[in-house]
Amino acid sequence: MSKIIEPLRGVHDVLPAQIAAWQHLERITREVFAGYGYEEFRVPVIEQTQLFKRSIGDFTDIVEKEMFSFVDQGEDHITLRPEATAGIVRAVISNGMLRDGRLRVWCMGPMFRRERPQAGRYRQFHQIDAEAFGFEGPDVDAEMILLSARLLRRLGLTRTKLLVNSLGTPESRVAYREQLTAYFSAHETALDEDSKRRLKGNPLRILDSKNPDMQRIVAGAPLLLDSLDAQSREHFESLCAHLRSAGIEYHVEPHLVRGLDYYTRTVFEWTTDALGSQSTLCAGGRYDGLVAQLGGAGTPGIGWAMGQERIVMLLEKQGLGRQRDRPQVYLVLAGERTEIAGFKLAEQLRDAWPDLALQINLGGGSFKTQFKRADKSGARFAIVLGDDEEARGVVALKALREESEQEECPLSEISERLGVLLGLKGG
Ligand code: ATP
Ligand code: MG
Repeated sequence: MSKIIEPLRGVHDVLPAQIAAWQHLERITREVFAGYGYEEFRVPVIEQTQLFKRSIGDFTDIVEKEMFSFVDQGEDHITLRPEATAGIVRAVISNGMLRDGRLRVWCMGPMFRRERPQAGRYRQFHQIDAEAFGFEGPDVDAEMILLSARLLRRLGLTRTKLLVNSLGTPESRVAYREQLTAYFSAHETALDEDSKRRLKGNPLRILDSKNPDMQRIVAGAPLLLDSLDAQSREHFESLCAHLRSAGIEYHVEPHLVRGLDYYTRTVFEWTTDALGSQSTLCAGGRYDGLVAQLGGAGTPGIGWAMGQERIVMLLEKQGLGRQRDRPQVYLVLAGERTEIAGFKLAEQLRDAWPDLALQINLGGGSFKTQFKRADKSGARFAIVLGDDEEARGVVALKALREESEQEECPLSEISERLGVLLGLKGG
């Protein structure tokens, strides 16, 4: 026998037994976005490596050490997308979608980062992503946050907490950067290697360090909120007023900076205390400079990304979204000649009822075996077609989930009978 091939580290299969929570999340996501007038957008999983280097920024975890990059046979430098915003901005520019200046879109799919795998942190993971372009004021910041709040609420999740902060404008960050450099330089001997490098390259990055020793030093660092420019302050206060009037509880977190370079003004995160150390469920912010940075006409933007694995973990923990898709009907073919007739019947029933979930017995088997399979499938009813039934133009119908007598039903009436029993809708 040949050796089995293991999956790559940090990459997981989603088994049929786990799919219910994923589908629940995806269904509610579509509904919530539709409720805010956001359109789905699908962009490639591979992009030019340049795109991510130029947008996410040097001195970030992603660009420094997490990208899956390779040179292909045609010498193209390619990276598996580590996040969605850069690709969406690229696509919005290359498709000329900002001609009328405004756009609200969302997407969902796999992302790739070469991280140290642990619970809630993987190398292939999935994100739900929302982006809005062309809106300058704090109204869209509020809408983005309300949207994410509604999604979490509609999923039924509890123990979530919203953190907000403002990073001001790049201009207002210049002075702050100097203060930070002075502060961290005074602590330089205590800094880890990453932080020492970032102190020279981009000291704001140190604020985002995962190292608990760094976090203790960060706790004493000067606050960006204290050196915010007047317009950014007004923007932030207006956002907070929107949130209060919508009844959304929030916490101002002055050390929240986010891992990517392109953010300006509003940043926010949803966290939970129910998942241990990988506690951030959703993160986002405003990126007013990014479209121009990637060659488009200067257009403000804002977005967020939600980690689907972490949401699914929380759903499972809170006993939500467990309803599995089961067939409603299992078709038992208990005869020598019934396979052909059985397939015909199954297709006729599916024609009549597009929402019917019917599983047909495959591979033969004794009557007893087939009934066991019917039971295991989770179906509510078994239809039995045997040689005798076929000859007489009838089928037997048996409820599998409740005590009841088997009934006999003429073939010509079984479709209608199922329709009534299962409350099906015609096509
Ligand atoms: P962290 O600080 O935890 O590394 P990040 O700032 O890198 O997070 P974002 O790029 O903002 O994360 O991604 C948004 C969300 O996507 C995160 O809040 C998280 O829920 C999810 N996420 C990010 N990286 C991973 C990963 N490697 N595995 C699973 N989920 C992830
Ligand atoms: Mg990260």
